[in-house]
Amino acid sequence: MLGLSKSLGLIEGFGGRGKGGLPATLSPLEDIDAKPLRDKYGYNAYLSDRISLDRSLPDHRPSQCKTLNYPRDLPQISLIFIFVDEALSVILRSVHSAVNYTPAHLLKEIILVDDNSEDEQLKAPLEEYVNKRYPGLVKIVRNQKREGLIRARNEGWKVATGEVTGFFDAHVEFTPYWTEPVLARIKDDRRRIVLPSIDNIKHDTFELERYENSGHGYNWELWCMYISPPKQWWDEGDMTAPIRHVPAMIGCSFVVNRDYFGELGLLDSGMDVYGGENIELGIRVWLCGGSMEVLPCSRVAHIARVKKPYHNNIAFHTRRNALRVAEVWMDKYKSNVYLAWNIPMENHGIDFGDISERVALRERLQCKRFEWYLDNVYPEMRRHSNTVFYGEMRNSKASHLCMDQGLKENHTATLHPCHGWGPQLGRYTKEGQLFLGPLGSTGDDTRCVVDDQTSNVPQLLNCDKVTNLKQKTWNFSQNSSMINQASGRCLELVPSKVNFGHQLVLQSCTGQRWTIKNTMGQTMSSR
Ligand code: UDP
Ligand code: MN
Repeated sequence: MLGLSKSLGLIEGFGGRGKGGLPATLSPLEDIDAKPLRDKYGYNAYLSDRISLDRSLPDHRPSQCKTLNYPRDLPQISLIFIFVDEALSVILRSVHSAVNYTPAHLLKEIILVDDNSEDEQLKAPLEEYVNKRYPGLVKIVRNQKREGLIRARNEGWKVATGEVTGFFDAHVEFTPYWTEPVLARIKDDRRRIVLPSIDNIKHDTFELERYENSGHGYNWELWCMYISPPKQWWDEGDMTAPIRHVPAMIGCSFVVNRDYFGELGLLDSGMDVYGGENIELGIRVWLCGGSMEVLPCSRVAHIARVKKPYHNNIAFHTRRNALRVAEVWMDKYKSNVYLAWNIPMENHGIDFGDISERVALRERLQCKRFEWYLDNVYPEMRRHSNTVFYGEMRNSKASHLCMDQGLKENHTATLHPCHGWGPQLGRYTKEGQLFLGPLGSTGDDTRCVVDDQTSNVPQLLNCDKVTNLKQKTWNFSQNSSMINQASGRCLELVPSKVNFGHQLVLQSCTGQRWTIKNTMGQTMSSR
């Protein structure tokens, strides 16, 4: 306890800076001291230690929310926070603000799941602090080994006793009246998974930044993102209305009826570390009879951190988890996930674990087909069903180099040593179009390779805006020339003093041959 009070000089009666949500700043000297902690946590933990645990944040609800009334008789909620080696003051501020801004009669308990942290401060000192400050309110679960955020959330659920469970990262802050709108929607229909709107706590200054009202979506790699609310919501013109038809969730904050979540199969416990589970839950709840929505009148603030302290290659795990989602839920559309990650559909060597239980769950819950979800819940999502070849593109003249989208503002394709990630993702379609760059979800970020018949450099343009069809159409099959239909010129390499020894040009064909790494098989499931 002593060590704790010392490091958190703010705890007993400390006013702290940043009261009332005022920005807190460090002197230049303090800033230097803060660096190691910033690097460790991906947020300014040094500053956090100097801000009140009981600060209040500005009210960013749409103003009409303040006129709404909610029933007093609402189900009780268990708030579950998971953490691995987060800064103690950040975890405690999450707990303090949960207690301060959740009405006492609605708060069943707080559950802290320690996903096998190493930091000694998070052992006895944390436990003694919460037990003294909030006797009987807080349960602590300690994972004996690192389970990852997905199984950690499930562990928290197992000990929860409230009728409703809320799942949060351990670096969030609540705001007044966040609870009632959420519980009212769940009381009304227990099959709703309800997402408070997320605002941002700036990782460096801990100031609150309001985020626009938005839905949550994702791209085909299954990275989540904020998306514009659907047209129906805008048309309604009611800023307090739930944003419905939300396809998935960001994941740092969601609330669900406890028993319903159990029936639905919790989060996929076969997933490791990070990523994909938030998308999977969205897909599953929609396909299996429930829904997901965002509430503009309920707001929770979250620190969008700049790095993940627990792993330096989370993409490795997200990719594996994404393949589970593709294989269990996406039917023939799973090819989009393989495409986005540039993985062959067969013999890819990625062990995504046993999915039989999840497939059985899908059967048992009699869930709909993925196409229904795309048509009805996420119609904005682009489908890339016309793909013939995909992956990095190599020319036999210099096969260590790959076509690359280069600097976006140049709008030209270029060459770069191969790495096979997004900027080198080529895609050749049935219609003979050649795209380059990471797949977007709804935007136009994948551009097509165009011979504008003027420049001798291939252009990278928004395909929808290129009106001359032939300029964006190429004759190609594996291991042969890439010939433009408008000009008859070929995409070729010429020696160059800059740019890794070669330059990409359009010129009279000399017989150079290209390969695109993967061929879309005929083996797709027919469901
Ligand atoms: N977390 C965990 N185990 C892990 C990885 C993460 O318990 O193996 C916790 C982490 O402490 C945080 C939450 O999971 O409370 C989400 O992680 P993070 O905030 O890094 O993800 P982000 O919000 O940045 O996407
Ligand atoms: Mn987080």
